[in-house]
Amino acid sequence: MEKLGLAARAKGSSAAEIEQVAVSSAAVLSSGSAPPAQTPPILPADAGTQSPAPSAASDSKSGFTSRIILTTYPNQIGINPLPMEWGAADPLQRGPVTVSRAPSTIRRRNAIGAHGGSYSIYYALALASKELDPDHKPDFTNTEPAADIGPFPQWADKKKIVSMDPLGHLVPWTFKDIIQKENVDLRPTIAITKAHMKLPELEESVRSGRLVPDGKVCLNSSGELNVTKVAVEPVWYLPGVAERFGIDEGTLRRSLFEHTGGMYPELITRSDIKVFLPPIGGLTVYCFGDPAKMSAPESKLALRIHDECNGSDVFGSDICTCRPYLIFGIEEAVKEAQNGGSGVVIYFRKEGRALGEVTKYLVYNARKRGEDRASDYFKRTENIAGVKDMRFQALMPDILHWLGITKIDRMLSMSNMKHDAIVGQGIPILERVELPESWIPADSRVEIDAKITAGYFTAGHRMTAEELEAVQGRTWEE
Ligand SMILES: [Zn+2]
Repeated sequence: MEKLGLAARAKGSSAAEIEQVAVSSAAVLSSGSAPPAQTPPILPADAGTQSPAPSAASDSKSGFTSRIILTTYPNQIGINPLPMEWGAADPLQRGPVTVSRAPSTIRRRNAIGAHGGSYSIYYALALASKELDPDHKPDFTNTEPAADIGPFPQWADKKKIVSMDPLGHLVPWTFKDIIQKENVDLRPTIAITKAHMKLPELEESVRSGRLVPDGKVCLNSSGELNVTKVAVEPVWYLPGVAERFGIDEGTLRRSLFEHTGGMYPELITRSDIKVFLPPIGGLTVYCFGDPAKMSAPESKLALRIHDECNGSDVFGSDICTCRPYLIFGIEEAVKEAQNGGSGVVIYFRKEGRALGEVTKYLVYNARKRGEDRASDYFKRTENIAGVKDMRFQALMPDILHWLGITKIDRMLSMSNMKHDAIVGQGIPILERVELPESWIPADSRVEIDAKITAGYFTAGHRMTAEELEAVQGRTWEE
């Protein structure tokens, strides 16, 4: 019971505690979240800065702090966030995103959530099952970025980058002194590496003569590619995210709190903390050719923005155009790089229009048990999910700003939502490139024709409602 001090006390004063949490988020934000009168200190005042006494600050066997901290408040004794100014040009003035709950760092947090996006849950499992030593400190020797990207002026514009940390790849090195002096656990949220990749379709592209190996970008007759890859975990600057969606910050914070099962009470109690690492998937950039050319205005850029579709991308389902468009995007990106420009494919973990695979398969069933007509395509999803799409492209252009991209010569996408989001962020798109007819699987006509009628780009024919009704997919029996 001793270890549950705060929880036990909270029971006794639960009315006050709950009242504090239950006040409207707008009020919390404007009032500056005064802590309840008897909020206990988060940790002994001396914990964290030096080496804390294990009995006071942490239980070395479990790796947990000795009190369960249900939430924290600004100005609470022991709370001392590392300074952070989102959008500041000087990295030291900007400050490091600090989110770890390690005993040495918990008082210094200036961000809510956890590292790793959706994988943060596996981190918790690894600690709980004692697979992971809670005192493990990452050794970042030789993990430096394999290519230089930036810095770009966009990195210091808090309207342009709101959903990733522009300094995320530099953390262990830029903030080395802070890590040492303050004894804090800071980790990268971006990593940059180099690799070769091999796709069976590209071997065919070489065989058919569409792609010619040059020994640099496309290495050989098996279509092997040289690629620079960037993995990015989400880091949200909440005022900026709210602004992109045209909502107020309090509404955003309240909704995130409620619909993650109350997982992050600091969204409500810590209005002083503006950064949140959400438990969602991130993105990967695949860059073909010299990475420096992505941001060079004189170099042509071909770009595909691709949202995850595991069934097609990996497992070859023919019900949609996802893998064909992904491969087409890679092939066109490679050609642009071979022509002296730059080719980029960005892959977002937003499975099934960010509705997930369960919803997606329910929709497939409803389609195939019905008549699977293109005219009913979006209605099927709306009936089940309530919306056509939850990918919300509003945050997507951040990665383009981060890469220093200021214009797109060839956009390898037909999506009007992606187009509008990018152009809305001030990045012009000079040409839109459709997926050629010959790349479209027969059963995916329902999807692509429905999308074209709904506003997807085409230089060809946009079907009328009657024509759309005649487009039908395969049934289960066929
Ligand atoms: Zn798909």
